[in-house]
Amino acid sequence: MKQDGKWSGFRKLVLVDRIKECEDITSFYFKAEDGGKLVKHEAGQYLPFKIVTEEAAYKDVLRTYSLSIIPNDELYRISVKKIPGGLISTYLHERLQIGDCIEAMIPMGLFTLKEESAEAPITLISGGIGITPLLSMLYQAADTRKSVHFIQAVQNSKLHPFKTDIHMIAELKGFRNTVFYSNPLAEDEKGRDYDEIGFVTKEWLSTEANLESTFYLCGPPVFMKALEESLLGLGVSKDRIYYELFSQ
Ligand SMILES: Cc1cc2nc3c(=O)[nH]c(=O)nc-3n(C[C@H](O)[C@H](O)[C@H](O)COP(=O)(O)OP(=O)(O)OC[C@H]3O[C@@H](n4cnc5c(N)ncnc54)[C@H](O)[C@@H]3O)c2cc1C
Repeated sequence: MKQDGKWSGFRKLVLVDRIKECEDITSFYFKAEDGGKLVKHEAGQYLPFKIVTEEAAYKDVLRTYSLSIIPNDELYRISVKKIPGGLISTYLHERLQIGDCIEAMIPMGLFTLKEESAEAPITLISGGIGITPLLSMLYQAADTRKSVHFIQAVQNSKLHPFKTDIHMIAELKGFRNTVFYSNPLAEDEKGRDYDEIGFVTKEWLSTEANLESTFYLCGPPVFMKALEESLLGLGVSKDRIYYELFSQ
């Protein structure tokens, strides 16, 4: 059993729970199979792992998933979007059951909250599954930061994960939370399910975002390119814009 939580190479983690967050995203909760502590990750880091199987198609195939839980050394959570035809995301959704193991490396990655004073404002902007590292940052910021604007862009209520969690943290901490629906359903209601229709535009950012803040972005490449261009165009300096790409 590892005493300090650290390990080198691969370590077996066992699935202890799985929860459907919305139509195409499920969260998977893991503990160390040996019962020991895990490494406390930094918010924004990801977990590289492979499936434990003898099946040739999956053997030694490595994928990385951002940890979507508050940094801790007991329980990891990843939240995975099912990609049609995707090898590992489909395996996780359709085949990984409670009690099954994965083999994981320690959490890694440099997309983390930069050291700043508690007063320094931050703006977290996610598109779709890009919510995962930013949600972990939001949990951390709830304890460490005073001025947070969380902007979540999704298609509609069927594809809207973590709505209640984010809403509750924002209420409790006095953070600002803005939800964009690009394609609301007939039953989706402005003010209840979402705040804005369409995309996060330069015009909207110019009046609604705190341009003095440090920005953290995660979403599809086209979403991040547009956002970065908008922010730069509005005078935000490049060294205050951080982002994570999910495609390698
Ligand atoms: C740092 C990092 C963090 C990540 N965090 C998360 C996370 O928190 N949650 C999560 O769900 N994914 C995350 N990903 C993506 C994840 O690692 C896989 O790439 C993704 O799940 C697809 O793997 P797969 O084996 O299912 O598909 P593959 O078999 O590798 O791909 C099948 C096909 O799908 C395409 N494809 C791959 N990814 C996507 C995509 N995102 N959208 C549309 N088409 C795609 C591929 O181009 C390919 O044509 C992250 C990636 C990185 C690099």
